[in-house]
Amino acid sequence: MANTLGIVKPDGVRRKLVGKIISRIENDGLIIRGLKVLKLSKTEAQKFYAVHEGKPFFNSLIEFMTSGPIVVMVIGGHGAIERWRDLMGATDPAKAKYNTIRREFATSVEKNVVHGSDGPETAKTEIAFFFKENEILPKE
Ligand code: UDP
Ligand code: MG
Repeated sequence: MANTLGIVKPDGVRRKLVGKIISRIENDGLIIRGLKVLKLSKTEAQKFYAVHEGKPFFNSLIEFMTSGPIVVMVIGGHGAIERWRDLMGATDPAKAKYNTIRREFATSVEKNVVHGSDGPETAKTEIAFFFKENEILPKE
């Protein structure tokens, strides 16, 4: 059993895609173990995306991620990290497989509707960034 961090980004919330995205997660057999809605400050967004600091898209990404509320989720299940990345699709929607969230809903490489942790270590630190231990349902 694994946990991963999922985010519905500001474009997804603005476009009322939260329900559709959660449906896809649940239909895949994954479990929502934690859930909240919040708005990132600039400092928080810069910290969350620190790995991308200095890249050409960084400033624009921070502007975008702080442009409105987001929904953060702890998504659990066997192979949850890879399964959530598979449901999301490739970063660039033009390269994402059919039936993935990004292929269907993303409008650009930047405005790609969802985030997912890329491995066990990032899943751990990204979940801890948003959730206290007692805000996450225990694994069964
Ligand atoms: N991004 C962007 N331009 C790029 C690459 C990434 O605007 O050329 C944005 C996009 O929103 C992406 C986020 O930065 O989801 C983080 O990039 P990463 O390479 O980690 O992609 P992800 O893990 O989200 O698929
Ligand atoms: Mg990433």
